[in-house]
Amino acid sequence: MTADLLELKKHYELAIVGCGPAGMSAALNAKIRNRDFVLLGTEECSPKLAKAPQVDNFLGFPGIKGEELRLRFFEHLRHLGIQIVPLKVTNIYPGPPFTLVGKDKSLEADAVILATGVSTQKLFKRESELLGKGLGYCATCDGPLYKGKSVIIISYSAEGEAEANFMADICSHVFYIPYYSDIVRINPRVEVRQGKVSEILGTNGVEGVLINSERLEADGVFILRESVPAEQLVSGITLNDGAIAVNHKLETNIPGLFAAGDCTGQPYQLVKAAGEGGTAALQAIKYLDALERDESANAALRATGAQPPDPQTPEIPVPQLLLH
Ligand SMILES: Cc1cc2nc3c(=O)[nH]c(=O)nc-3n(C[C@H](O)[C@H](O)[C@H](O)COP(=O)(O)OP(=O)(O)OC[C@H]3O[C@@H](n4cnc5c(N)ncnc54)[C@H](O)[C@@H]3O)c2cc1C
Repeated sequence: MTADLLELKKHYELAIVGCGPAGMSAALNAKIRNRDFVLLGTEECSPKLAKAPQVDNFLGFPGIKGEELRLRFFEHLRHLGIQIVPLKVTNIYPGPPFTLVGKDKSLEADAVILATGVSTQKLFKRESELLGKGLGYCATCDGPLYKGKSVIIISYSAEGEAEANFMADICSHVFYIPYYSDIVRINPRVEVRQGKVSEILGTNGVEGVLINSERLEADGVFILRESVPAEQLVSGITLNDGAIAVNHKLETNIPGLFAAGDCTGQPYQLVKAAGEGGTAALQAIKYLDALERDESANAALRATGAQPPDPQTPEIPVPQLLLH
């Protein structure tokens, strides 16, 4: 069901980031339309759906357990031959084409759908101010910058253990603060600290964290949550009340970038997520068709010796946001 990272191509027409109901629904619509797309997700696709004890409001499935519905979604993808590539995206640089950067890989896509869900974890005090000043969301991506230095890794799942183990080979010291129970496999060179972080320390650059009211010093801090906040994933994205602002076509303020599901705001419901995912895919396909028409028109212009419009200012109009 999950594909190998090595199978990733360098470029896709469409990249779907997030493998919950919204992302899966987007993927199946892209597949039915026979488009060149990739579905990117984390190790566990939709822990939220897995945790839903009983779902009573998903049409056609009265009283179904969240986990059972999740397995049915997977079965639907498998039936269509759709694979999920386990790549947590940490940065998206607007294009066209967009560049998506993950832990071990990067790729390009002409259009992107964000279906990353919503994080229930609050940001730490001073996290936003110190982002990029020694604070990041992917330890292995920035690993070489911390060679011989000390880092603190705060992780909300066991997936962070691999990052801590990797950093232990590079850094002078690695502190690991798990925000979950039951550590699976941690390198003996990693120092595990249990407790609650109340603040990230530093003014112009990270100096450490305050844990259980005690100062723990380090050169860098990495926070590994299931999802990266949208504004940190894509610089310049417009938010509305903390959610990604979209119009009724699920377009964000960035041309070619769409969003669907919980990440676009309340209500946090499966049927909304699946519906928005499907709609976003269809709208992304329309965008790709327009982009292709534009490129053909530009090629025809070039053939006549005329100058096509500046590629930095594509002819596709920036969508007007009709906020919910
Ligand atoms: C306990 C519980 C019970 C619920 N019960 C119901 C119910 O009865 N009825 C109902 O309608 N809804 C219910 N919900 C809500 C429902 O589960 C959500 O609305 C739905 O899962 C949202 O789907 P989504 O695809 O938008 O996001 P999610 O399901 O959160 O999926 C997002 C996925 O994207 C992945 N991801 C995030 N960031 C990245 C990244 N940067 N790169 C790659 N992948 C990423 C995440 O790991 C996750 O797998 C319940 C939720 C909970 C927690």
